[in-house]
Amino acid sequence: MNPLETPSFPSRLPKVGTTIFTVMSSLAAEHQAINLGQGFPDFPCDRKLIADVNAAMLADHNQYPPMAGVAELRHSISQKISRLYSHHYDADTEITITAGGTQAIFTAILSCVGPGDEVIIIEPAFDCYRPAIDLAGGKTIAISLQVVRDESGQVASYQIPWDVLANAVNPKTRLILINTPHNPTGMVWDKSDLNHLAALVRDTSALILSDEVYEHMVYDGAKHHSISSHPELAARSFLVSSFGKTYHVTGWKVGYVAAPSALTKEFRKVHQFNVFAVNTPMQYGLATYLADENHYLNLPAFYQAKRDFFRAGLSKTKFRLLPSPGSYFQCADYSALGIPQAKLNEADFCKWLTSEVGVAAIPVSAFYDQPTESGVIRFCFAKQEQTLANALQRLQNL
Ligand code: GLN
Repeated sequence: MNPLETPSFPSRLPKVGTTIFTVMSSLAAEHQAINLGQGFPDFPCDRKLIADVNAAMLADHNQYPPMAGVAELRHSISQKISRLYSHHYDADTEITITAGGTQAIFTAILSCVGPGDEVIIIEPAFDCYRPAIDLAGGKTIAISLQVVRDESGQVASYQIPWDVLANAVNPKTRLILINTPHNPTGMVWDKSDLNHLAALVRDTSALILSDEVYEHMVYDGAKHHSISSHPELAARSFLVSSFGKTYHVTGWKVGYVAAPSALTKEFRKVHQFNVFAVNTPMQYGLATYLADENHYLNLPAFYQAKRDFFRAGLSKTKFRLLPSPGSYFQCADYSALGIPQAKLNEADFCKWLTSEVGVAAIPVSAFYDQPTESGVIRFCFAKQEQTLANALQRLQNL
């Protein structure tokens, strides 16, 4: 053997490549396309939040924080959840600060899933769920979100397929992963969905991981129904959220997990050897900023204006709009565009749209494990109105 050669070894994730979000952002940069692919805002965060973080740095909050996170931030989170969802999490034993939502999800899965355990996910599903389950040695059971169409065949809404979910739950089910508001469809759970889920798991030992990173992006007067708002479900759930999404600072990578103490105890065992702790001054800054509820109560209206602007523009194109009741994503069907490229698969269509039209989007097929093509792509509308207007102008030419 050549001593300069790197020894080969079996991949832990043989089917995984680079995530679609990174691939599309790189392609967008390469072609100077308007990036409506990866979900992140192109507008700045509030200067007050930056000032709060600066103040924390200048006050010398620059060494390791407690492993579970800065106490002030855990208290601010506990208060926010009580105010919005009427559930009290103990800041000391039930809330942990993480390096963003992805780490929170990864650590939660590793802390409770082992070889032979089944984990149910609902596809289309965010791409980080399955690899974490694989690395934990668990078995992913994927069921599909039900698409409800109106008389003309247009997608009217999405529903949880309760019968299919009920059939999938068995004594090996360790965890059920849910996501509301949903990435990529924008579907939001309502109270009856939570009641359905509660009835379904009542006599089982299944845990729940609820990915709620888009909790403040629910539109048309609807409410976010957090897993924490349902006492029975809260008792068996990890609740995940993210400041990156809430406060337009995706690059800061700060999120959190709220979970009953028995779950938090196991979560922290993994967390301490995974990241140990999350950067200190950001946590102090976020604690101050979060304490003012005005910093999150205005978010639904702020994002709804963007959604409405984008939808109004897109409705003048040949793309077919899908519903977007929540999240900062808008899915659109390109199959009726009437151009040869409309026959491309979703990934190739997105590549073409990025390189030739100058607008990057995400293929919804990336949210499925098995090849699934429905001619639908996802746009992110968390952008300045001018950015959306420029993208719409390009899309209107198709
Ligand atoms: N959540 C973001 C999205 O769906 C991407 C986050 C990431 O790139 N990991 O676009």
